[in-house]
Amino acid sequence: MRKKNLSLPDGYRQQQRAIKVRIYPNDEQTVLLNKTFGCVRFVWNQMLSFEQEIYAAADTHFVPTPATFKEEYTFLKEVDSLALANAQINLNAAFSSFFKDKSKYPNFKSKKSAPKSYTTNCQTPKNGGNPTIEVFEHEVKLPKVGVVKATIHRKPMPGWALKGATVSQSASGKYYCSLLYEYAEPIPEEVLPKWHTTIGLDYSSPDFYVDDKGNSPMRERYFRISEEKLAKEQRKLSKMEYDSNNYKQQKLKVSKIHEHIANQRKDFCHKESRRIANSCSAVCVEDINLRDLSRSLKLGKSTLDNGFGMFRNFLEYKLRDQGKHLIVIDKWFPSSKTCNRCGYINKDLKLSDRIWICPCCGELVMRDANAGLNIKEDGYNSFYGVITTK
Ligand SMILES: [Zn+2]
Repeated sequence: MRKKNLSLPDGYRQQQRAIKVRIYPNDEQTVLLNKTFGCVRFVWNQMLSFEQEIYAAADTHFVPTPATFKEEYTFLKEVDSLALANAQINLNAAFSSFFKDKSKYPNFKSKKSAPKSYTTNCQTPKNGGNPTIEVFEHEVKLPKVGVVKATIHRKPMPGWALKGATVSQSASGKYYCSLLYEYAEPIPEEVLPKWHTTIGLDYSSPDFYVDDKGNSPMRERYFRISEEKLAKEQRKLSKMEYDSNNYKQQKLKVSKIHEHIANQRKDFCHKESRRIANSCSAVCVEDINLRDLSRSLKLGKSTLDNGFGMFRNFLEYKLRDQGKHLIVIDKWFPSSKTCNRCGYINKDLKLSDRIWICPCCGELVMRDANAGLNIKEDGYNSFYGVITTK
């Protein structure tokens, strides 16, 4: 949650950025971290069931504080109390978005599927003294846990203030700490979209995206290599006896490849969004939820799981940093089926049709570039308040 900082000078805005570092807890610290993950999950479930009881009895929504449970469950006192307080904030946020946007009702967290993570805040004692979270050359200090060994590749810029940390454990067992910083930066001058440097991106399952000129990003070959390796190891896993020692070892191997692919993907998304944000005046994309919905209705499953959402988020903040716009088309329109030249809608277009001839105007339509061009045109026009008519 972002609080409005009243001390910000004119022409400045508050920004947040996270730096994620790998941490290497010792045995004792590992026990405490795991205990904290468990307590956060436990207290979430307690608060949720309490809320449900109150709701059933008195028709009132109320989430109790974690302190409510500390007398009965004394083990909650052993872990970072801010981690528990953040669980309450998260549960309240989940309820707000459930009430407001009709999004998913908050679920109970199971030991197996719940993400192993907790968030804590950095507090500086009013009477002086050291803040509760500190970052050193090769270590991070966390509340209750103490000083943990860490690999720190990136340092915060001067003027960044440490606000909090999210500690997590990946499926392959590695521990991470994501350090959240806040800083003020001058609001960049707005860059208005210019037609020639605005691009339209159409989401594409095999190619990631296709732009209005029909270009797709170069996806590195190592992606494919990792994915082949993953398929091979997953086949091996499927032949093993469930829960046997071999199975557990193989599962860990599979998790490691998954993580490796996720890292490659993130890296790719960063580089590609940086390249586009620097070279364009504006970017137009479709509303992902609408797109996802329309696709999943057709294909029976979500197709946006290859990092396009992450890419869009990166793109958005990288553009915003430069005063540029990510223009989201907020209506659904058949971008692939509409001829960009005359507006004819080709209802019979199949997924396999890469090129078609418009029966209305005779245009040779290149499917992919056509969709990107429609998105670009609609986004560009809507930015300037022009209604696209054909
Ligand atoms: Zn046409």
